[in-house]
Amino acid sequence: MESQATPRKSGKIIVVSAPSGCGKSTIINSILDSGSPELRFSVSATNRRPRKGEVDGVHYHFMTTEEFRDAIAAQKFVEWEEVYPGRFYGTLKSEIERIVDKGGNVILDIDVKGGLNVKKLYGDRAKTIFFLPPSIEELRHRLEGRGTDAPEVIDERVSKAEYEISFADSFDQRIVNDNLDRAIDDTRRAIEDFINK
Ligand code: 5GP
Repeated sequence: MESQATPRKSGKIIVVSAPSGCGKSTIINSILDSGSPELRFSVSATNRRPRKGEVDGVHYHFMTTEEFRDAIAAQKFVEWEEVYPGRFYGTLKSEIERIVDKGGNVILDIDVKGGLNVKKLYGDRAKTIFFLPPSIEELRHRLEGRGTDAPEVIDERVSKAEYEISFADSFDQRIVNDNLDRAIDDTRRAIEDFINK
C-alpha cells in the first residue's frame, strides 16, 4: 500500500474492517440508515465489475484498471490495496476531504491493511473497529448457510479470515458479532463515544 495524503483538520474518521461473513455491511447500513450518529459513507474506487444492484458513485466509483492506475499515478488515493489478485480498491482523497473538511464524520469500509494504514496516517482523528465472528467454525457455518459459494471458495474465505483476524489486536476496538442487534448497538455506542470525545 502507498500512503499519499496529508492529514487535515476537522471531522472524524471511522474505519471498519472484518472478514467476509461477519455482518459488517449489515451493521454499517443499519447505523447509516438510522442517521444517528451522523456519518457519511466514503465511496471507494475499484476496478472490479459492478454486482447486480450496485450503482456507480453510490456503492463504488467503478473504474477500469487503466483508470485506477492513472489515479494512483496522480496521487488521488489516501490508500489503495490489491485486496484480491488483480482487484484493486482505494480510498479517494476527494471522498475524505469532501466530508471531513466540512466538519462531517466519515465511515470507511475497507480491508484490514488499508484500515491500519488510514489509522497510521490520521492518528487520533481516526478510530479503527474490527468485527469478529464468534468463532472460525461459526464463520464457516454462516458462509455454508449462504449457499452461494463452492466448498473450495469457502475454504479460501475461511483461511483469508484467519489471516485477517491475526491483525485484530492492532485495531482500536474489536466487536464480536454473535448477536446482530447487540453488535449494532455496541458499534453505534463506540462511534458516538469517539465522535463526542
Ligand atoms: P467487495 O468487492 O466485496 O465490495 O469488497 C471486497 C473487500 O474490499 C472488502 O473487504 C472491502 O472492505 C474492501 N475494500 C473496499 N473498499 C476499499 C478501499 O477503498 N480500500 C481498501 N484497502 N479496501 C477496500
